[in-house]
Parts: sequence; structure tokens; C-alpha cells
Amino acid sequence: MQSSYKPPIHIDAPLSNKKYTGKWVGTGISCGVDSMATLKEYTTEDVADDYKLTHLLYFKIGAHHGGHAQPVPEELENRIFRDELQVVKSFCKKYSYPLIIVDSNINTLSNQMWGIHDFFEVFEYRNSAVMLMMQNHFSKYYHATGYATFMGFVMDIHKGLEHNEWWSLPLFSSDNLTVIPANMAMTRIEKTKYISDFEPSYNHLMVCWNGKKCGVCPKCIRTQVALDWLGGLQKYNKVFDLEKYYQGKSYYLRQIVDQRKTDQFYCELYEYASENGIKLPPPSNFFRDTFYKLKSLCYRMTLGQLRR
Ligand SMILES: [Zn+2]
Repeated sequence: MQSSYKPPIHIDAPLSNKKYTGKWVGTGISCGVDSMATLKEYTTEDVADDYKLTHLLYFKIGAHHGGHAQPVPEELENRIFRDELQVVKSFCKKYSYPLIIVDSNINTLSNQMWGIHDFFEVFEYRNSAVMLMMQNHFSKYYHATGYATFMGFVMDIHKGLEHNEWWSLPLFSSDNLTVIPANMAMTRIEKTKYISDFEPSYNHLMVCWNGKKCGVCPKCIRTQVALDWLGGLQKYNKVFDLEKYYQGKSYYLRQIVDQRKTDQFYCELYEYASENGIKLPPPSNFFRDTFYKLKSLCYRMTLGQLRR
């Protein structure tokens, strides 16, 4: 039987209590819904000057997994990183934000040295660690939270980082840097609605797991469906292929129904549809679908015989 005991880690490094006076305020920018919502929230006029965003950050530390289980081939990780970076650079240039890029091999090294971890098990530690390396410049770092857990929160450490990030993230703060969870009271649909009147998102929204605006990965599907229901999809016609979306819409809605019990975001969409009287298709039925496939096959075979 394998022991789950892991020996304590001893770090052999000099200690420092140096106080810095960094004034920069940063957040990660992937141009996704979370980062756009954070950007909007902390650039509005009513935000105090020392809380206003000054810099955007883009890290390669394991997030470019394409929605696959780790580890992904390095070429794929690098390709997704480069594709997204093009969008991020274009966004920062257009809206005059200084951009700091961190291109690290920590994901490859970590997988080799400490075993394979899903990025969702480590992203909070890694983002905070990178920021702590730059604490001489930054006073605040906004971490865009994944989904709302603040309302009706039930403490459960086994539910993973995203569930617990609103209380655990600030624990990574130091005397110099404050780590702040952003948008933690908004659900994904509320965030999507929040950014749908944020003009900078219209041409630069980038939610695709494949880094290609594919339109068919779960992140593309859920964002298009949410924008469609909220009446804002047309504003994103440079980001999504809307004709392709409307052609596949019934299939995407079926995906939401079928996967609502295993996918948190599809579950949110399903509940939103129920609460707002949006009609969804019935769940897939294996026996019914197989029956229709067999019927179609028989029909085509009979047709083939008749043609002979
Ligand atoms: Zn996609």
C-alpha cells in the first residue's frame, strides 16, 4: 500500500524583511471573461487611485493546457501560449496598458519533479508565487476568480482551489504585496453580462481553450450561449463565427443539458435557462439515439439495394 505521507519541504534561502514601496497594481490578462470583468471593475472612475490597475500580466506557468488533462505536449502548450499572446499584445497596445510577460518552464519541471498535477490544483500557488517575485514593484495583485462561491459558502477543503480561493488567496499576501480575489460575488453569467457593455472586450474576448476561437470547445460554447441569451452575441461577431454558432446551437444546448451534473458552468447555464423560461432540448437518450441511427442505417442500406 502506497503511503500518502509527504516529508516537509525545507527551503535553504536567505530571509528578508525588506520593505518595498512598489506602486504598481496588476492583474493577469488572458482576455477571457474573468480577466475582462476584473479589468472593467478596477479601471472605473470610482475606484481609488491606489487600487486602479496600472499593469497587465501574462504568465506561461501551466494554464495553456487546452482543456486536456496534464501533461499536454510542450509544442501544444507553446502554440496556445503564442496564439493567445498575440491577442493579449494587440489588446494592450490598443488600450495602452504596460504588459509584463512571464514565460516559465515551471509546468514542465514540476511535472517531472513532483508528479503530474492538474493546473486547477496549483494555479493559485503559481500565480501568487510569480507575483511575489515582483513584489518590489507591485503593491496589489487582483486574481480573477473562477466562479462565485462567496454566497452561501460551505467550507470544504476537498472542493478544490476555485471553491476556496476567496478566503485562501489573501493568505499569499506579504508585507509588500496584497493578493486580492476579484469578482468573487459574480457567477459566470453575471460576469458575462457585466462585460457585455465593456467595449474593449468586443474585438478581443478570447475564451477558447485551444487558443484559436474554435467556437466548439466547452469554453467557447458556454460563452456564446450566455451572450446569446443575454442579447449581446452580435457585438462579438469578430470573435465568434456566428453563422457556425447558430448552425450548431441545438447541439450545444444538448451538451449543456447532458453535462449539467458534471460541469459547473453548464449547470449555471441550465439553472439560468430554468429561471428565465428558456427552452432547452431534452437530454440525450442512448436507446432513442441508437434506434434512430439504426433506422437511418437500415433506410440507407435499403436505398442502396433498390439502386442496384
Ligand atoms: Zn474554443
